[in-house]
Amino acid sequence: MSGAGRNRPVPRFSGALSSGYHSPQLEVAVRLNTNEAPEPPPREFVAALSAAVDKLALNRYPDRRATGLRAALADQHGVGADQIFCANGSNEVIQSLLLAYGGPGRSCVVFEPTYALHSHIARLTSTTIVEGERDAGYLIAPSELAATLARAAAVGEGEPAIVFLCSPNNPTGLIEPDETVAAVLAAAPGLVVVDEAYVQFARRSVLELVGGNENLVVLRTFSKTWSLAGLRLGYAIGAPDVVEACFEAALPYHLDAVQQEAGILAVGFSAAMDARVARLVAGRARVLAGLATLGLDATPSESNFILFSTGDRDAHAVWEGLVARSVLIRDLSGWPRLGGHLRVTIGTPEENDAFLAALAEVLG
Ligand code: PMP
Repeated sequence: MSGAGRNRPVPRFSGALSSGYHSPQLEVAVRLNTNEAPEPPPREFVAALSAAVDKLALNRYPDRRATGLRAALADQHGVGADQIFCANGSNEVIQSLLLAYGGPGRSCVVFEPTYALHSHIARLTSTTIVEGERDAGYLIAPSELAATLARAAAVGEGEPAIVFLCSPNNPTGLIEPDETVAAVLAAAPGLVVVDEAYVQFARRSVLELVGGNENLVVLRTFSKTWSLAGLRLGYAIGAPDVVEACFEAALPYHLDAVQQEAGILAVGFSAAMDARVARLVAGRARVLAGLATLGLDATPSESNFILFSTGDRDAHAVWEGLVARSVLIRDLSGWPRLGGHLRVTIGTPEENDAFLAALAEVLG
């Protein structure tokens, strides 16, 4: 028998060969790079979850339709349980939507700069990405909306299957104005997905538009406001048909029993979450003021992070100076359209102060 081994690597699916979306994790004292909540979840929540886990029949598969969790979220938002689809973080919701509605021959629209995972997951699902450009104020001009939708209509089957908006947008922190959402809803023939991962920090949501717009899907997550990024729980609110399409695209039992229980319990801690949001909004005002004092230009964020420009200072060097002082933020300066920019997550008052003090030192 010939023992010739095979050392040739199997070629990877080309769609997977994008750089992805990873923030380097370095050992630092102050970690303000991934928009997580700085506080752990409330103690009472963790105690209630431990007690609930004790009673779970973990030898059994979980409720495939996450009935209890969807009912709790439906109650919270005043929608039907059939309008809610839950998954492993809103990233998996995005994946389910793209598996269900995207794919070869289909397109989706994103307006850059925006959350990188919308196009990253589109690429993984072989969905053609049509990029529109935000204007200098990071908003979508009506002419750009029309031109981008026209370009998408020329791709593959024609007409984008999904238009992604992000409100507040990551990494700018700005909400999409009402006129923009209305214009997209009026013009987009397919789904309009509004990613509201950070909406609790903002003045308003588009959720109330879901009832009157069968093609509108709103995304939410437990990762930010709820201090539960480690749990991986996110959801979509949309028309029942869209929810069913997502169920068809998701793996059976994709949401485990502990996640479902934790989500149900978390909904009961809304007041504690609101208090956390209020603290972070106050911290945001403090950091915005601190950046202004240092003479830096920042976007007026409605989120738990702030995008700022380092002006005539080299942004990467500023980022390195912060790391040398054990403060990690997000270096966006190498990203298209974001040259000279860094993004800082709002932390505890002590972390915010440490960031501002380190930044003042770096800027000298
Ligand atoms: N949407 C946006 C705009 C985000 O910034 C993030 C997290 N970085 C997500 C979705 C993903 O959140 P999750 O943890 O729910 O997957």
